Amino acid sequence: MLIVGAGPAGSATAIRYLKNASHLKVGLADKSNFPRDKACGDGLGPGVVSVLNSLEIDFAEIPSVHPVHYAEVHGIGGISFSTGLEEANLDASHGLTVRRQEFDDFLRQKAIDIGALWLSEHRFVGYEPKGNMLQVHLHNQQTDQNFITTCQLLVGADGASSRVRRQAGISPSSSKRTGIGIRAYTKIPTEWTDRIIISYEEQLLPGYGWCFPFSNGTANVGCGMVVKDYQQLRPDLRELLAQYLEILADRGLQCSEPTDHSIHILPSGVLPKLIAERTALVGDAASMINPLSGEGIVYGMTAGMLLADSTTKALLKKESSDTETSPDTETSPDTETLHLALRRYEKQFRSRYSAHFRSTYLAQRMLRSKTWTHIFLKGASNDHKTRGAGIDLMFGDGRITPYSSARALWKAIKQKP
Ligand SMILES: Cc1cc2nc3c(=O)[nH]c(=O)nc-3n(C[C@H](O)[C@H](O)[C@H](O)COP(=O)(O)OP(=O)(O)OC[C@H]3O[C@@H](n4cnc5c(N)ncnc54)[C@H](O)[C@@H]3O)c2cc1C
Repeated sequence: MLIVGAGPAGSATAIRYLKNASHLKVGLADKSNFPRDKACGDGLGPGVVSVLNSLEIDFAEIPSVHPVHYAEVHGIGGISFSTGLEEANLDASHGLTVRRQEFDDFLRQKAIDIGALWLSEHRFVGYEPKGNMLQVHLHNQQTDQNFITTCQLLVGADGASSRVRRQAGISPSSSKRTGIGIRAYTKIPTEWTDRIIISYEEQLLPGYGWCFPFSNGTANVGCGMVVKDYQQLRPDLRELLAQYLEILADRGLQCSEPTDHSIHILPSGVLPKLIAERTALVGDAASMINPLSGEGIVYGMTAGMLLADSTTKALLKKESSDTETSPDTETSPDTETLHLALRRYEKQFRSRYSAHFRSTYLAQRMLRSKTWTHIFLKGASNDHKTRGAGIDLMFGDGRITPYSSARALWKAIKQKP
């Protein structure tokens, strides 16, 4: 099998397949030379800690890793409150911040250590079916040569502008369901490094901002909004970020001049089709980003694990006519067997996350409005349960229910801060 893209989704997929069956042939190709940077907030919710634990990966080995236990939310009308990340109701009670350059390279290396075949600077170009296999075209950027390989399963983990997705005939996310974000690095006083900050300040709406700290007194700061709003408002994102840092200063957090600006898109909100013939999508390639928090890594890594768990057996299934190979040797399963296994992956991912993504999309649409932002933040600042439901939506598997919405409204209207 071939995985295109060695971000967290692709590497987690490779690791899980190889942990399920160490003799599977797993190719991991990326157009970049690693370590490579990726525009991100560098914030990993408690879900990623759970995923790393279940992959038996000791993240403490990563130099910049920094545990964070609570989130502080700032918003319209001077509202500010903090809440523990354990409210996300996951196995782990804390999140992490970590430089993506280090995190992604660390995971990629783990995949190689347990047997993935690494294809550095190999750009995926296209594929077509060939018998019971796929014929995949790659371009080796080091040698400037085209290269054809065959595989029984192609995994598109190639990020927000996925070429695998396009080639599989799955249309990209619409501008209403895609975000755009800018991140930069800054220095902050060390007493602010114990929390992540998420901001719904009036000047940032219809978008939001974040400040995610590292233990060494640096922080990742950024802001983002939906592409459709961006196209209408045409803000200068660097200017918006500078304004955000002034707002943080007014709240007592002095940041130094930001550096290393980087802008990227975040396809999110509603899941597309996750599979096509002998092809599966994971991570940003399948728009697996929470539009409310911008978190995407947890869904991509979870998708990789579900995909591997659903299909490993089918990939190992010995063709009945094949008497030469030993049982459990990787062979090309018939299309129907693999398709059923791929459908199991899609079904499992959807049953866990479809309603969650619909809820986060709805919440994000409402938080573009000043009135609704004010109401929900006021409700949350007055009520522990509403804060918990918010954290569960942002960093867990939470859903909006009639009860949670009514409770937030009630707490906003009836109680004083
Ligand atoms: C500004 C911003 C802030 C964010 N903040 C956070 C955050 O704090 N926490 C969080 O969890 N998520 C955050 N996200 C989302 C997060 O970055 C993504 O969800 C995550 O990177 C998805 O991982 P992935 O492995 O699917 O894709 P990626 O990390 O994008 O990896 C895709 C890989 O595919 C490779 N590739 C692409 N095309 C090809 C090709 N044709 N051939 C070969 N290789 C190819 C790329 O080089 C890349 O290495 C943020 C996103 C943005 C833009």
